[in-house]
Amino acid sequence: MASELEPEVQAIDRSLLECSAEEIAGKWLQATDLTREVYQHLAHYVPKIYCRGPNPFPQKEDMLAQHVLLGPMEWYLCGEDPAFGFPKLEQANKPSHLCGRVFKVGEPTYSCRDCAVDPTCVLCMECFLGSIHRDHRYRMTTSGGGGFCDCGDTEAWKEGPYCQKHELNTSEIEEEEDPLVHLSEDVIARTYNIFAIMFRYAVEILTWEKESELPADLEMVEKSDTYYCMLFNDEVHTYEQVIYTLQKAVNCTQKEAIGFATTVDRDGRRSVRYGDFQYCEQAKSVIVRNTSRQTKPLKVQVMHSSIVAHQNFGLKLLSWLGSIIGYSDGLRRILCQVGLQEGPDGENSSLVDRLMLSDSKLWKGARSVYHQLFMSSLLMDLKYKKLFAVRFAKNYERLQSDYVTDDHDREFSVADLSVQIFTVPSLARMLITEENLMSIIIKTFMDHLRHRDAHGRFQFERYTALQAFKFRRVQSLILDLKYVLISKPTEWSDELRQKFLEGFDAFLELLKCMQGMDPITRQVGQHIEMEPEWEAAFTLQMKLTHVISMMQDWCASDEKVLIEAYKKCLAVLMQCHGGYTDGEQPITLSICGHSVETIRYCVSQEKVSIHLPVSRLLAGLHVLLSKSEVAYKFPELLPLSELSPPMLIEHPLRCLVLCAQVHAGMWRRNGFSLVNQIYYYHNVKCRREMFDKDIVMLQTGVSMMDPNHFLMIMLSRFELYQIFSTPDYGKRFSSEITHKDVVQQNNTLIEEMLYLIIMLVGERFSPGVGQVNATEEIKREIIHQLSIKPMAHSELVKSLPEDENKETGMESVIEAVAHFKKPGLTGRGMYELKPECAKEFNLYFYHFSRAEQSKAEEAQRKLKRQNREDTALPPPVLPPFCPLFASLVNILQSDVMLCIMGTILQWAVEHNGYAWSESMLQRVLHLIGMALQEEKQHLENVTEEHVVTFTFTQKISKPGEAPKNSPSILAMLETLQNAPYLEVHKDMIRWILKTFNAVKKMRESSPTSPVAETEGTIMEESSRDKDKAERKRKAEIARLRREKIMAQMSEMQRHFIDENKELFQQTLELDASTSAVLDNSPVVSDMTLTALGPTQTQVPEQRQFVTCILCQEEQEVKVESRAMVLAAFVQRSTVLSKNRSKFIQDPEKYDPLFMHPDLSCGTHTSSCGHIMHAHCWQRYFDSVQAKEQRRQQRLRLHTSYDVENGEFLCPLCECLSNTVIPLLLPPRNIFNKLNFSEQPNLTQWIRTISQQIKALQFLRKEESTPNNASTKNSENKDELQLPEGFRPDFHPKNPYSESIKEMLTTFGTATYKVGLKVHPNEEDPRVPIMCWGSCAYTIQSIERILSDEDKPLFGPLPCRLDDCLRSLTRFAAAHWTVASLSVVQGHFCKLFASLVPNDSHEELPCILDIDMFHLLVGLVLAFPALQCQDFSGISLGTGDLHIFHLVTMAHIIQILLTSCTEENGMDQENPTCEEESAVLALYKTLHQYTGSALKEIPSGWHLWRSVRAGIMPFLKCSALFFHYLNGVPSPPDIQVPGTSHFEHLCNYLSLPNNLICLFQENSEIMNSLIESWCHNSEVKRYLEGERDVIRYPRESNKLINLPEDYSSLINQASNFSCPKSGGDKSRAPTLCLVCGSLLCSQSYCCQTELEGEDVGACTAHTYSCGSGVGIFLRVRECQVLFLAGKTKGCFYSPPYLDDYGETDQGLRRGNPLHLCKERFKKIQKLWHQHSVTEEIGHAQEANQTLVGIDWQHL
Ligand SMILES: [Zn+2]
Ligand SMILES: [Zn+2]
Ligand SMILES: [Zn+2]
Ligand SMILES: [Zn+2]
Ligand SMILES: [Zn+2]
Ligand SMILES: [Zn+2]
Ligand SMILES: [Zn+2]
Repeated sequence: MASELEPEVQAIDRSLLECSAEEIAGKWLQATDLTREVYQHLAHYVPKIYCRGPNPFPQKEDMLAQHVLLGPMEWYLCGEDPAFGFPKLEQANKPSHLCGRVFKVGEPTYSCRDCAVDPTCVLCMECFLGSIHRDHRYRMTTSGGGGFCDCGDTEAWKEGPYCQKHELNTSEIEEEEDPLVHLSEDVIARTYNIFAIMFRYAVEILTWEKESELPADLEMVEKSDTYYCMLFNDEVHTYEQVIYTLQKAVNCTQKEAIGFATTVDRDGRRSVRYGDFQYCEQAKSVIVRNTSRQTKPLKVQVMHSSIVAHQNFGLKLLSWLGSIIGYSDGLRRILCQVGLQEGPDGENSSLVDRLMLSDSKLWKGARSVYHQLFMSSLLMDLKYKKLFAVRFAKNYERLQSDYVTDDHDREFSVADLSVQIFTVPSLARMLITEENLMSIIIKTFMDHLRHRDAHGRFQFERYTALQAFKFRRVQSLILDLKYVLISKPTEWSDELRQKFLEGFDAFLELLKCMQGMDPITRQVGQHIEMEPEWEAAFTLQMKLTHVISMMQDWCASDEKVLIEAYKKCLAVLMQCHGGYTDGEQPITLSICGHSVETIRYCVSQEKVSIHLPVSRLLAGLHVLLSKSEVAYKFPELLPLSELSPPMLIEHPLRCLVLCAQVHAGMWRRNGFSLVNQIYYYHNVKCRREMFDKDIVMLQTGVSMMDPNHFLMIMLSRFELYQIFSTPDYGKRFSSEITHKDVVQQNNTLIEEMLYLIIMLVGERFSPGVGQVNATEEIKREIIHQLSIKPMAHSELVKSLPEDENKETGMESVIEAVAHFKKPGLTGRGMYELKPECAKEFNLYFYHFSRAEQSKAEEAQRKLKRQNREDTALPPPVLPPFCPLFASLVNILQSDVMLCIMGTILQWAVEHNGYAWSESMLQRVLHLIGMALQEEKQHLENVTEEHVVTFTFTQKISKPGEAPKNSPSILAMLETLQNAPYLEVHKDMIRWILKTFNAVKKMRESSPTSPVAETEGTIMEESSRDKDKAERKRKAEIARLRREKIMAQMSEMQRHFIDENKELFQQTLELDASTSAVLDNSPVVSDMTLTALGPTQTQVPEQRQFVTCILCQEEQEVKVESRAMVLAAFVQRSTVLSKNRSKFIQDPEKYDPLFMHPDLSCGTHTSSCGHIMHAHCWQRYFDSVQAKEQRRQQRLRLHTSYDVENGEFLCPLCECLSNTVIPLLLPPRNIFNKLNFSEQPNLTQWIRTISQQIKALQFLRKEESTPNNASTKNSENKDELQLPEGFRPDFHPKNPYSESIKEMLTTFGTATYKVGLKVHPNEEDPRVPIMCWGSCAYTIQSIERILSDEDKPLFGPLPCRLDDCLRSLTRFAAAHWTVASLSVVQGHFCKLFASLVPNDSHEELPCILDIDMFHLLVGLVLAFPALQCQDFSGISLGTGDLHIFHLVTMAHIIQILLTSCTEENGMDQENPTCEEESAVLALYKTLHQYTGSALKEIPSGWHLWRSVRAGIMPFLKCSALFFHYLNGVPSPPDIQVPGTSHFEHLCNYLSLPNNLICLFQENSEIMNSLIESWCHNSEVKRYLEGERDVIRYPRESNKLINLPEDYSSLINQASNFSCPKSGGDKSRAPTLCLVCGSLLCSQSYCCQTELEGEDVGACTAHTYSCGSGVGIFLRVRECQVLFLAGKTKGCFYSPPYLDDYGETDQGLRRGNPLHLCKERFKKIQKLWHQHSVTEEIGHAQEANQTLVGIDWQHL
């Protein structure tokens, strides 16, 4: 259908192009009814431009629209050519000082933690960099799209509201200057006209709901039967469902379906079919039918094409308006005016209202276009922002209700604009006072939460999925409330007070619905059947936490408000729990002569709820009152008289008792939901408005009650009253052995109750409770966190409560309490507690979890032992209470308390069975300690007129009264001091007695007064103890010293291992596999060592014994014995590549014989160095394979290794491997037997070899031609002169054992298979080439690593590398014995011919295109195949030497030809040395052979330098190669780092120091060879500048340079758009660290097909860039990604750290991140070492979830 319509479209174009914008505008200027005129124009042209076929042509449409539709409007508006008109407007404009840049998805935004009024105030990158905040503490986030830059908004910033760009000249600030004054009357009038018409048109058409009928004034005369089947987005159906459905419904390919689905998801709608009505209707019904099965069907409409056309133009128009108002603030103001003008229908009829109110009916694309327009117009104009805010508030309820029922995410709803309006403090306050916004928000919220129980409380018990969905959406209203409250008023007007208190009332109503919700009853007998729903209630509580805190902050800022709010809160609490509820019976309790009335209530039997927000709000307000000035000056004004303390404490106490009972195991049958609730109750996210406030409420209660009464009520609620009120109950209790569980339970409850008393007295660090400030509170939190262990910054932040601005206040105090320790290469920076802060440690700190408490106790005791102090952890000195709470301390000396203490001490003294516990005693000791500290402080601060009423010391000295007649507490303590079973607590008891004495001394102010009796006994006792103690102390010291030494040693050892990880691994490996390469450097005296040639240093044969890691059997490595193998991993590599665009196109036809110097695709081999018997390995591998097959069948799981591809993990170290290398002796020694004749020189040798080659080639031809004429054959044979001693029919015997031969084939085939990515074929002639190539490539890559790290060539190499290179080289040298002799000979001939030309090889690469080291390795390793048939007496060594010399010379020529010929001004003044003149002569020869195409260079100095530098890598590689090949030890000089060792290398390699001598010595043959090399056509092309070459030395590849500041990467990525979906932002931009490409990862749009599978952009990229291995940075996540192949990958820690030495994977914390060079180097090193795959393997083994990720889709 599309093709039929195509020509028509073309035809219409022409008629449209004839339109003249100027003329049309002229006509409009004359028009009487402009609206009609314009509408007619639109009605006529819009359908001719838009929607002409099934697919949109955006560019053509835009072009035509500009020409025919928008152009006239611009002409009309300007009254002249807009090309002149707009610039004029722009010039006259006084731009606003607001930046207002609207953020793209993924764009970095910055918020200043010091100056932003709230965290929603953000800057764009440009403004940020130009602002003062870049030097402040800031946070960086990536925008989710929407929202704009707040630069220039004075209300958003406490300081520095303008960046440099938006800085205004202060003289220019004229309040609210009307921007219209800069426009002429005419322009104003015309703009008004055209804006009014166009804006109305756009609103009308976008909100149009009919599907086949246009508004009357746009209806066309003749209407075609062309419709669209329009598919709309929803958030219910998945991508896959949509794609599947579309394929069925409109018969499209999967690719097209993906395209449709992507657009629907992005724009909110997309036509999926174009045609007549019937045709579209049919598709619609299929889609609806197919998607209605799950939930509701996908939304589909069949729309007439002209409607879609007008709607498309409507959108275009809105964007156009947005850009036009950018020219002038005056135009913007006119648009605002037009938009907000009330329409004919009165209220809510302005265009802006109409758009907002139909928001939820619009599709996504339309919404975001008009939201953007609102942001750039209404929100940028200060006057209209206010008016718009009012409209928004008036419509608030409607908009929110629409949003709640709409299914789009909040960012696509107009409701989301609330953040832009409510966070502006002046607007928020205006809306509160004028529109009663607070009440509206809260009431709207309540309206949407309708599930209530009989008492009117919220009930989430059985709410449906739909309700849950709604509940989630309603929560955004709480966020709005938070925005409104986020900036506290500095001044209160009466109106504000009134409206705030009205809002507060509404808020109390809300809390009232929560008070007591989700009540629970203890389950006895059976376990509960179904876990009750609890999350919804807690979610609500959590979301409200900050709001509750902010409400309190508001109240705190005005005393009148505070007192009013307090009264209101109290009244509501009374309503909730008026009197004592539910007819609970009153009872009377009495202990020690005190008695109190209370009710009978058991937490363990009746309903109890954790949710008490009203009580807790009251507690919060009480603390604020206590802090206020009134409390100090006029306490009588406080509304305290109405309080009934027992009522206040009742419910919080029940809640705390519930926690204690849960801990005592009494609620086990209530399941996990209760455990979770208790957890959250104490959790840092909730505790501030839950647990903490319950403690405060109890403190409030105690401070207003007789402490004895309080304690009795508490005992009763803990269900412990019986135990303490009945004398000798304990004894009876302990004898009831049958109820062991009950005893245990009661013990725990007693412990918990004591703990609660400790908290009530000790927790006075909230300002208002104690006389402290907020800083001291946060300091204390940090001290206690760090008492557990040193912590990283983020860990600490997580353990501290955040305020509504996400601040913990930690930075301001951390320096005072902790030292920072920087991180190393791994790990994080850590904070350690300063030692002087340890004295503030409180073992019973109320925010410790039980686990934390015991960890902290252990850590602190250990610390004390290390400092050789006693291990008592006495309570710290506490700050005084505020006056309102002051009487609280009396609880410590109350009679009931003393009775409880006495009873427990008595149990401890009696020490009978299990009726008491050490923890109980420990807590009592702590309480006594607290009381003593308290008394001490009272005495210290006593003033003349006051009597110290706190007389704890006196009370505990007195014995118990009748009828108990128990000894005094003090006496019992003295007894316990010597109890052998209380060893741990001895130090604490001693501390108590010491403090007791000190206090007593203070009390007896007169020094002459007689020493009290008690004191005497203590002194006596302590002296009695003295000897014993002294002995003990000494023993202890000795023990500590031992411990310390041990600790030091193990610390040192660990340190050592960390530092020398590699070395340590080596030793481990040595231990394990005893790779006893019996010292490969035997003592060689001063003589020079030569690695090759006839004069090669002869090394005595060494025997080598190795142990198999699998069977532990030892075996000697011998030619004829069973094969020993090393686990090895072969992989393709582009690490050294100089040309990443090149890769093997067709592996089946690829000829790897010559490696190009760009090293574009190599084969790398590595090994962990672990040795096995070949047969042991075989057995192991078979079992792995079998196991894997079973496992896959069973679990369908991936593993970290791919068994089908021959992969396995080394059985010892779990290193990923895919083959094995056999272990061999130096193979040359086996063949290098013939060495008797005079050895030929290079010229002679080349001739001989050439003859041999010729003979071979002749014979080869013979073989290949059919045997038709034997006569002719013999004839030819005569022609052939066989060189002397050459016996081409000789076939040497293979010396290796069968098993070794088999392994040679195995490894050879593996290299071939992996290197070329082909199916294994051991017969393929390319197998030996791949083996040599891998040997050469691996050596080259190791040479690079050593050079880059400035390490000596033969320095201490890690054992595994050494083993690997040795085995690899020897293997490659021996491989020819298992290959076909003629094949290897053939390779040799061809390689040889590349340097010494002969007739039969023509298409060989020129010497510029050959990597000489690969050539050398190939020639040397193939040579034996020729030499073995040569019986003339030429030795292998001679051949090696000549080959080496020949290749070296070729390389020198290569370097000279390619050396950078730029003139070097630094001519040496010294007389030229021998080398320089020689190289200059050689260069002249070259110059001559190249026909003077080579540039002339007068200085030999420069040339010689280039040669020396260029050839070094080659020489180093060669030295490594011959060292491993022949086993000649390396000269000691090269083993140390330092100078380049050029001379030493030359000596070792049997080269003259003046390399040019090689040419001079062999000038006869070399001249002709050089000439032949230079005459190559490629060389000519290069010299003529027609092609490029690789130059030497090749530089090492590095990973790309990363910016220091991470945000510039984010910015770069936010500008990156998906290359496939036309300018769309990529969701997961990912940076290749190897080549710097940005990719659109993890997204359907950029999937491509690779080997028949759809893969993501990253995987596809690894195949071209890294031969299957990739290193990426996921920019949005700040995460390094390693990929290998399609199935393997892992995440790796990024090289970016914040100031606290931590990474931020996922960018959750938003601290500024900076590049850590060392960590980046570490990643680069992994890459250079080819360890990425291995790293992935280890990561996957360590974390199995990594295995399940579909890496290929990234
Ligand atoms: Zn900005
Ligand atoms: Zn700015
Ligand atoms: Zn700042
Ligand atoms: Zn074995
Ligand atoms: Zn291993
Ligand atoms: Zn893409
Ligand atoms: Zn790349």
